Amino acid sequence: MKTWLDLPDEHPFGPQTLPYGVFSVGQDSPRRVGVRVGDHVIDVAAVAALGGDPGDGPHLAAAWATPSLNAFLALGREKWAIAREWLTEIVTNDVHREAMLPHVYPLAEVTLHLPIEVADYVDFYASEDHASNVGQIFRPDNAALPPNWKHLPIGYHGRAGTVVVSGTDVVRPTGQRKAPGDPAPTFGPSIRLDIEAELGYVVGDATEIGTRVGVDAAADHIFGVVILNDWSARDIQAWEYVPLGPFLGKSFATSISAWVTPLEALSHARVAVPGQQAPPVLPYLQGDAFGLDVHVEVRINTTVVSRPEHSAMYWSPAQMLAHLTVNGASLRNGDLYGSGTISGPTRESRGSLLELTWNATEPLTLDDGSTRGFLEDGDTVTMTAWAPGPDGARIGLGEVTGTIVPAR
Ligand code: CA
Repeated sequence: MKTWLDLPDEHPFGPQTLPYGVFSVGQDSPRRVGVRVGDHVIDVAAVAALGGDPGDGPHLAAAWATPSLNAFLALGREKWAIAREWLTEIVTNDVHREAMLPHVYPLAEVTLHLPIEVADYVDFYASEDHASNVGQIFRPDNAALPPNWKHLPIGYHGRAGTVVVSGTDVVRPTGQRKAPGDPAPTFGPSIRLDIEAELGYVVGDATEIGTRVGVDAAADHIFGVVILNDWSARDIQAWEYVPLGPFLGKSFATSISAWVTPLEALSHARVAVPGQQAPPVLPYLQGDAFGLDVHVEVRINTTVVSRPEHSAMYWSPAQMLAHLTVNGASLRNGDLYGSGTISGPTRESRGSLLELTWNATEPLTLDDGSTRGFLEDGDTVTMTAWAPGPDGARIGLGEVTGTIVPAR
């Protein structure tokens, strides 16, 4: 597909991608929904208001002229598909060029904001390699995987209000810690601040309490995907997590990419989920449990430290959503759930420093010769990702980045 924006064929934000975000221009302009093409952002509410769309212009223009994607998420899968078809037409057909040009902004001239008003935030634990690595490090005297791990996608409720957009600084968290050999807990800034490379799945088309979403219906509610960094204070986490799971070691910040890639853009990235039938899962977790072939790269400052592969995840996003709702818990527009750290079997595919440095016993050496067990103040962590698209094209998922600033 060609666009009148004149991009090279290999551009990861060509018309095959069309991710949604929220942007503003200058100091006083309102936040509204934008769609990225190449290195430009289209003010889609303004373009939809011009007319010439397939009859949904008023709906779409109203939903897009708001400071988050939530109103658009509420419209549901059928409208998402109509919108995407129309956007594809306006960016690929030259006849729209003149009318659209006043509503196209260079990426460098806009400010990107948190794309969704996060309703509920849940984080899963879907990588077998990650779960067994963490088990060996945190619980060396027990089996690497807990007994329930292959029967249900384990998750915990996180803090929706501290999900931040890419580029937001992360203040080093402070809290309690107690190493096994310490006589008593101590208090202070975390000394084991870590990352977790994940994908986040963005939910739309809310459901009613008391109803379930089955595996086969999950794709009707998964609007799209973001790159997610689940910042983690391992010292705080290790002391607090028994028996109710992660709490303050995680809730200080979770960063997501500014662009939400529609699930529809990832149709060429669908893959089978490895290993889900051994042992067989209960019927409510069976069905079209597709995985996603998304390639992630993690950098600390200028050094690439890991290349996790999302296709290796044991549990699929559809199974996670089926499990999340199996008790009748409702979905809200703007719900976000994380995959859990994406780790593979090799060192270079591990998605956290906890695993990459084996709890700081095998430090990483960065390009500048310095070493890291965990993050230092001033470190910038950047995660990028892409997926295969049609005809050899790439689907860019953008990046999520954040810099550690000293504890306050
Ligand atoms: Ca996590």
